[in-house]
Amino acid sequence: MPELPEVETVVRTLENLIKDRKIIKVNILYSNIVNMDDQKFIDILTNQSFKNFKRRGKYLLFELDYITLVTHLRMEGKFFYQSSDDVIGKHTHVIFDLDNGMQLRYDDVRKFGRMELMELDTDYKVFKKLGPEPLGNDFNLAYIKNFIKKSNKNLKITLLDQSFTSGIGNIYADEICFRSKLLPMTLVSDISDEKWLLIIESTKQVLEQAILNGGSTIRSYTSSLGVTGLFQLKIDVYGRANQKCHNCDDTIVKIKLNQRGTHYCPSCQKLK
Ligand SMILES: [Zn+2]
Repeated sequence: MPELPEVETVVRTLENLIKDRKIIKVNILYSNIVNMDDQKFIDILTNQSFKNFKRRGKYLLFELDYITLVTHLRMEGKFFYQSSDDVIGKHTHVIFDLDNGMQLRYDDVRKFGRMELMELDTDYKVFKKLGPEPLGNDFNLAYIKNFIKKSNKNLKITLLDQSFTSGIGNIYADEICFRSKLLPMTLVSDISDEKWLLIIESTKQVLEQAILNGGSTIRSYTSSLGVTGLFQLKIDVYGRANQKCHNCDDTIVKIKLNQRGTHYCPSCQKLK
């Protein structure tokens, strides 16, 4: 599932490719992707131009002239910027014809992604149940102490809670725990202020590095390549079960924690 850095990369890539392009036609091939009446969606978007490109948590926000197109990629959603002559893939569900002869295509193998339209609103009140952006200043020690004061949950499940902070998924949660030298099952009530500061720093570091690496792929995109947000961060634990830890001689372990595959180093990471 795309997490914050991947979504950010997709947003920045699309900004480079389609900013100020006008939508001249919309074709919906699979209507469940669109959270409203198909024809209404088409009528509203036709003849509007892409103006501003934003992200909130894992949501992509495309501000057009009079409305915002909000997309959540869920598990497998991808945007492709292609020529209208290119063969349409069997997982392409929505096609936006642009005024330069190119198309923005939405592909989704699992069909879990969703698009909806929202009034232009810089505050996007609809997102108020999302916690602060992990890269912003609002994600700080005072905020965290207040959020967790009655919590008996573990660190990993808290990092995944989108009302705690928005945009972190399974990969980055495991990486943040590793960099903070804390086991994912550590109870948040056991974590010292000093450790929280390390968690905040690790969170920002891991996400910023991933964005930077994702960003470096933007320059190499050509028109026919998919805009997927490439994850090129050096991964320490996620997906590395039974491989040697990058930091010691121990082996990375994979367990199920709250139904989520969870990876950690039993030597480098502690319970407090
Ligand atoms: Zn280790």
